[in-house]
Amino acid sequence: MGRFSDFHQRSIQDRDAFWAEQAQQIEWHKAPQEICDYSNPPFAKWFNGGETNLCHNAIDRHLKDRGDQAALIFVSTETDQERTYTYKQLHAEVQRMAASLLSLGVQKGDRVLIYMPMIAEASFAMLACARIGAIHSVVFGGFASGSLASRIEDASPKVILSADAGSRGGKVVEYKPLLDEAIRLSSHKPNSVLLVDRGLAKMAITEGRDVYWSSLREKHMHDVVPCEWVDATHPSYTLYTSGTTGKPKGVQRDTGGYTVALASSIPNIFCGKPGETFFCTSDIGWVVGHSYIIYGPLIGGMSTILYEGLPTRPDGGIWWSLVEKYKVTVMFSAPTAIRVLKKQDPALLSKYDLSSLKALFLAGEPLDEPTAKWISEGLGKPIIDNYWQTETGWPILTVCNGIEKTLSKFGSPGKAVYGYDVKLLDDQTGEELTQPHQKGVVAIEGPLPPGCLQTVWGDDDRFVKTYWTTVPGKMVYSTFDWGIKDEDGYFFILGRTDDVINVAGHRLGTREIEESISGHPAVAEVAVVGVADNLKGQVAMAFAVLKDGALLNDPQALLKLEGEIMKVVDNSLGAVARPARVRFVSVLPKTRSGKLLRRAIQAVCEGRDPGDLTTMDDPSALLQIADLVKASNK
Ligand code: ATP
Ligand code: MG
Repeated sequence: MGRFSDFHQRSIQDRDAFWAEQAQQIEWHKAPQEICDYSNPPFAKWFNGGETNLCHNAIDRHLKDRGDQAALIFVSTETDQERTYTYKQLHAEVQRMAASLLSLGVQKGDRVLIYMPMIAEASFAMLACARIGAIHSVVFGGFASGSLASRIEDASPKVILSADAGSRGGKVVEYKPLLDEAIRLSSHKPNSVLLVDRGLAKMAITEGRDVYWSSLREKHMHDVVPCEWVDATHPSYTLYTSGTTGKPKGVQRDTGGYTVALASSIPNIFCGKPGETFFCTSDIGWVVGHSYIIYGPLIGGMSTILYEGLPTRPDGGIWWSLVEKYKVTVMFSAPTAIRVLKKQDPALLSKYDLSSLKALFLAGEPLDEPTAKWISEGLGKPIIDNYWQTETGWPILTVCNGIEKTLSKFGSPGKAVYGYDVKLLDDQTGEELTQPHQKGVVAIEGPLPPGCLQTVWGDDDRFVKTYWTTVPGKMVYSTFDWGIKDEDGYFFILGRTDDVINVAGHRLGTREIEESISGHPAVAEVAVVGVADNLKGQVAMAFAVLKDGALLNDPQALLKLEGEIMKVVDNSLGAVARPARVRFVSVLPKTRSGKLLRRAIQAVCEGRDPGDLTTMDDPSALLQIADLVKASNK
């Protein structure tokens, strides 16, 4: 057995000793008395009795050794700004922000909602909350008033932080009017709204409620705000899931477990070292942004890049130019972003000196083989898929090259990460499937490791019911994803448990059909859904985006492609999986975090109401599909 499996086995069989060791990677004000209290399953209390602070571990502890090293590198191709904050400077800014929040009456345990674009101040705000023991709730800046209002309602923040505007592709996107509308819609009202004025848009000010960050910052320029030592189990933040499958869930994270999990993930999973640069292209509104733009790299003593802008502006080489300039060693992105780059000139991948880069990590959705190959060959670097959820806060499945050099397999995010007792279960009987290649629900035996959600914010009942009672006869955490495991312990994710379609009695994962279709060289991206059918129960319906968008105006070519694609599916999966139709669109409906909204596509195809669309990115995408469906029903 290799070191990786030893490590994993010890983390499960000798759990407390294992995590006690990992816990030494962070600084404690008071050492934990108990490593894991699991006396009330499924609620786990990690590092019970210990006291620490997330901000202390992200900033203060590094001041001695790396005070003058870059901590945060803010780059905006929207406003043409580039600014580096050393650990010392970040420390000062965060204290100014913390002092400002305190002056607005924020106390330990109070919620602070952050609705901001990708600017440095957003990270000051998160870290300042952690510093004073306030619970932040970052809401993705791309959301409009409806989604924002429901999150304000749920988190009931004392203070909301926002800005005049963000910018996307050179277009100013105002935040303040959306925020005002959201506060109007919500029955909960914040005491204060703290505003960053970027000079992008004029703001209407509500007297007595709205305050400018610039004036409070000035007032608290030299304030010293020590870190508030909090219990390891004190909530650090709440964050909503992407809403791919329905109403988003408010994930609540602790302090001690999360700090330990991130601290150990940086060397073990990402092979990041203090002094190196981490570039995560996600958004602070998502879990990947929380863990790997802000907290993880800083806890690991690295420099982290916070990037505002598109991957394609000024051109598709912008990210790689940043890798060269800041000598990025670890990069983290999402398959959806790589598919965007795939439509750009591939020569941009080799234009810059990428010698510093060790690997590109991708997560968030299935990584199809053609995309993985394209980017891996283009960059000449290892591509490392990793599978996790907002709920878990850090990877469940990947390869841990920091523990043992491990080969990746195309199509597989890797093996179970230490701490996660991952099982494949029969969805009908709850029985564990132990043979290779048996398809089951990916489940995790409790307790979930440090860093995972403690509960659903304000709703313990929903936590238990949603996650722990869906597999018959067993209290086990369900990921709601299908998977298989091969003889070497590599998992393959086959899609979500609600993405399975049933064609004439055959159960097919939409993901498998998508994988097969994306093997056609003309296809950039594809979504497959199951649509009700009188004869077969359900049939597969495919919507594809072509690499060459111009073909959309050529019905002859599309017809030919449709036939070819069906043949590809016939050959790889069999005729039973062949989509009833393959239709072509210029863009697919996705959540703002880039995940395919299959449930919405399916609803439109079946003439149903698509339901909660508040997390959708581009509404025109769904309209295109609706139009195609309407046209074919005529
Ligand atoms: P909601 O839970 O609100 O429906 P969501 O599940 O999309 O939304 P996230 O927590 O952002 O919210 O996403 C986690 C899910 O994303 C996983 O359960 C899985 O379906 C998918 N996923 C993440 N990483 C990968 C990966 N590497 N390969 C395949 N699927 C992935
Ligand atoms: Mg989910």
